[in-house]
Amino acid sequence: MSDFDYDLFVIGAGSGGVRAARTAAATGARVAVAEDRYLGGTCVNVGCVPKKLYSYAAHFHDAFQDARGFGWQLPQAPRFDWATLRDNKTSEIKRLNEIYGRLLDNAGVELINGRARIVDAHRIEIGGTTYSADKILVAVGGWPWVPDFPGRELTVTSNEVFDLESMPKRFLVLGGGYIAVEFASIFNGLCGESHLVYRGELFLRGFDREVREFTREQMAAKGVKLHFETNIESIEKVEGGLLVSLTNGESLEVDAVLAATGRKPNLEGVGLDELGIELNPDGTVKVNDRFETSVPSILALGDVTGGPELTPVALAEAMHLVQHHFGDAPPAPMDYRNIATAVFCHPNIGTVGISEEQARKEYDAIRVYRTDFRPMKHTLSGSDERCLMKLIVDDASDVVVGAHMVGEEAGELIQGIAIAVRAGLTKADFDTTVGIHPTAAEEFVTMRTLSRH
Ligand code: NDP
Repeated sequence: MSDFDYDLFVIGAGSGGVRAARTAAATGARVAVAEDRYLGGTCVNVGCVPKKLYSYAAHFHDAFQDARGFGWQLPQAPRFDWATLRDNKTSEIKRLNEIYGRLLDNAGVELINGRARIVDAHRIEIGGTTYSADKILVAVGGWPWVPDFPGRELTVTSNEVFDLESMPKRFLVLGGGYIAVEFASIFNGLCGESHLVYRGELFLRGFDREVREFTREQMAAKGVKLHFETNIESIEKVEGGLLVSLTNGESLEVDAVLAATGRKPNLEGVGLDELGIELNPDGTVKVNDRFETSVPSILALGDVTGGPELTPVALAEAMHLVQHHFGDAPPAPMDYRNIATAVFCHPNIGTVGISEEQARKEYDAIRVYRTDFRPMKHTLSGSDERCLMKLIVDDASDVVVGAHMVGEEAGELIQGIAIAVRAGLTKADFDTTVGIHPTAAEEFVTMRTLSRH
């Protein structure tokens, strides 16, 4: 046993930190976790979990409309109560916080409340008490970042948007990433007037171009007001709302403005600067394959290291890190290729592998199979929502290198397709897979006609 108080001291009880702590403790390591805010981190408290619950809530808007064609009559127009959703969400998160606490406790991990500061390669200070550890893990995640403009203080971020006092009747989100498109859809469903303001010509930069265009059409058809190639110049408080002036000269009056303009590492006060720990150009912490920083006893994982900012990535990194530092044999390096992801805009996007544009750069020749159709449900619902599915194939090897979908439950569906893409299966393998009828998913195994080279 070492002279240190702990074998591993984790800073941050988010997805990655908790998983690393529990997994390390299971190997017999003495582990502590310090957390100054909430158990479960961004995902549980102000990210994935509440977002998905609010997305479900917003979907009911369409569901009530869709039901009519199937014979359902509502006695009166449905009414949405923000406080019920918000407070039920808060109770559910409290339940999850408690589960996280119990998981740590049952694993024998000591939980210390407070903001930790790293003093040197093996010591941490919290509220005047110093602890020592063989290894220190920085798993502090990210924090919303908002650009500077007059009235910036009138915006909320994803940290506050779930807990607004009352539901905004008119909502605006700034940004063109995951959070912006998801919240534009959520508030479109909940309150009916939702604006998205994005500085570029089309949101979701980096996603497949056709997916982005299709999503634009679908979101616009559902009523989201999209303002591209413009930015917020200023926000002013006016009688009954906020006046948002855009750089294109337009102005919009709304009740709430969400800034979804990206996140930065949550490193303030953690003490990395004093130790001279090397950072990447974007301010994230530089780590090697073993998740070691430039001070090898100090490790880092998850959003703070600048990889894909996704909970399952942080979880996978945590398992790898523990195998490297507390396991019997080092694992193969973490493989970041073919990580499936979903954007919970309405309709959802599900995607794995590379975009058509990226495939054209990486391969000499590709084949694209795509289809867009009206899902069966909407033959009776009267909704004009459509679904897009798309496979990108390397022509030489026949391997499917990208699969994309925009449509209901795309996230649920793409997870299975991700196994096939990760396994390197070919288009012929997709073609010989017998479909499940009647589903939308069967289109992924029945797209026989080449759309383009
Ligand atoms: P993103 O990094 O995805 O998007 C930030 C957006 O803000 C971009 O569109 C960017 O524009 C824009 N932006 C940046 N700076 C400015 C500026 N100065 N003025 C105007 N616009 C600006 O961040 P998000 O905040 O949406 O989300 C953070 C991360 O959280 C995501 O990257 C994702 O990994 C994760 N997340 C995942 C979810 C999921 O899995 N479903 C859901 C929500 C979040 P540009 O494109 O031009 O750079």
